[in-house]
Amino acid sequence: MRYAEHIAELVGGTPLVRLNSVTDGLTTPVLAKIEYVNPGGSSKDRIAARIVEAAERDGLLRPGGTIVEPTSGNTGVGLALVALQRGYRMVFVVPDKFAGEKVAVLKAYGAEVVMTPTHVPPEHPDSYYSVSDRLAREIPGAFKPNQFANANGPRAHFETTGPEIWNDTDGRITHFVAGVGTGGTITGAGRFLREASSDGVTIVGADPDGSIYSGEVGSYLVEGVGEDFWPATFDPTVVDRYERVGDRESFAMTRRLAREEGLLVGGSSGMAVVAALRTARGLGPDDLVVVLLPDHGRGYLSKIYDDGWMRAHGFADLVDAPAASPLTS
Ligand code: PMP
Repeated sequence: MRYAEHIAELVGGTPLVRLNSVTDGLTTPVLAKIEYVNPGGSSKDRIAARIVEAAERDGLLRPGGTIVEPTSGNTGVGLALVALQRGYRMVFVVPDKFAGEKVAVLKAYGAEVVMTPTHVPPEHPDSYYSVSDRLAREIPGAFKPNQFANANGPRAHFETTGPEIWNDTDGRITHFVAGVGTGGTITGAGRFLREASSDGVTIVGADPDGSIYSGEVGSYLVEGVGEDFWPATFDPTVVDRYERVGDRESFAMTRRLAREEGLLVGGSSGMAVVAALRTARGLGPDDLVVVLLPDHGRGYLSKIYDDGWMRAHGFADLVDAPAASPLTS
């Protein structure tokens, strides 16, 4: 018999799939790593187990304890799977920009959710960082994983994501493209790939227009990537260069991925694919681009995949004239 003892054991080992239609005739293969097949639906499942195991080992989390974390959703789901397995209570603090399905998903897993305003600076007492700090102090037995400072995040990607990509491409990857939120993915997987390859893999950071990592800070709608500060989990020396991508291009590509490739993914996946295609454009058939698609589209059905929401946010053109697909062109 082949089965897992618990759903939390099924994290990782995600597949690569070639992009066929959105590549519009490029000769360089672009392979997408599909993180939504993780049991919680995102790459964040990978960091949760590492973080909780380390906290137990260090005596920061004891039986009956509570996990308190500021999260836009995906880290919360990953932590929820581990918390359910091990009997911890969960309290997640979420910026109101992320209201909708993601919060409903966290509640469905039995988590308590505290909403906070998005448009206040991190040091403000109502910010999601401040509120989670306060709850972690006030709740007895509380542990705050702090995904923006916890070295077990990048470590999880160094130990799993990086080796999976290297092995599945027989070491032939030449370019790795990933969005940067906490920076855990690109720091861990990027560092592994660079060290594994003798010729060097080029590491490309996909970044929303409005993120501090690649330019001026401003507002943007794509979720889970970009920041307005430099987190400790991100080692910027791993990144060779950035591709800065606007919401319009990110959302157009996100919708194309669902319609043309059958990949129902989130907005940061669309953003990363735009960056990957720009990267591939200058390359030849012997190069190999791998782009990481962090999460599932189920968290965006009332946003990117909703025509009314798209029109209300200035993207009517993307709804009324969907990008050409092989079926219509
Ligand atoms: N995309 C989404 C949807 C995410 O939730 C995250 C994690 N915040 C990322 C991309 C970026 O991953 P990382 O934190 O490892 O940089």
